[in-house]
Amino acid sequence: MSAERDCSHPAEPAKKIIVAIDGPSGAGKSTIARHLAQRFGLLNLETGAMYRAFALKALRAGLSLDVSSGLESLAARTTIRLEPGEEHNRVLLDGEDVTALLRNQTVTDAASRVSVFPAIRAWMVGLQQEMGAAGGVVMEGRDIGTVVFPHAEVKIFLDAAPEVRGLRRYEQLRAKPEVQPAEVIREMRARDERDRNRPDSPLRPALDAVRVDSTNMTLEEAVKAAEEIVAGKLRARAQC
Ligand code: C5P
Repeated sequence: MSAERDCSHPAEPAKKIIVAIDGPSGAGKSTIARHLAQRFGLLNLETGAMYRAFALKALRAGLSLDVSSGLESLAARTTIRLEPGEEHNRVLLDGEDVTALLRNQTVTDAASRVSVFPAIRAWMVGLQQEMGAAGGVVMEGRDIGTVVFPHAEVKIFLDAAPEVRGLRRYEQLRAKPEVQPAEVIREMRARDERDRNRPDSPLRPALDAVRVDSTNMTLEEAVKAAEEIVAGKLRARAQC
């Protein structure tokens, strides 16, 4: 944990802080972001939900997920809004609440495919920058600390061994009888590969991100570690 004193910026109210959380799927980002938002009074914004909502619209329209031009014109006629929700953000796609439709395998896979296109990413990044512009947010995704908010005060890159992440993901989905662990792990690896290897904004830690590897931690311990990172930053600011 780094709580170094950084007085390069004058003291700002704590609520203006931007906390960026990036990492692969199953690393615990959502749980940690939700917790940090509650603990520090921040707005929790899940950027993955935006890619998921757009993917849902593309699927409904029967578009090819591999052709940027069709997706771009769809994006031009799409509005996506995130609102605070219980477990996940409430997601409004063209005004329709699609929150309950975003976590199945088809949409998950489609989200990872549409997110490789630079034009789609540029559109999403613009929306995300607008949503977080006033600060007071914890934003989680894959490129928050590197692209969306490269000047975020706190950047956390959360990781864990692939087997551990796969099992966590399976635990989240196991209520559904059709879900098999091997399939969950295979799909998660494919998605991570795509996220890490796309030319535009690949998943990688920002140089100044604090890395948290939760492989040998419980989620509670990982939450505690993240909380300490943010608290340390707020303490350092308060001394300026
Ligand atoms: O975080 P979540 O699993 O909901 O994200 C779904 C997909 O959206 C990811 O697999 C990734 O391909 C994409 N995504 C992204 N950039 C973000 C957030 C999500 O490319 N900032």
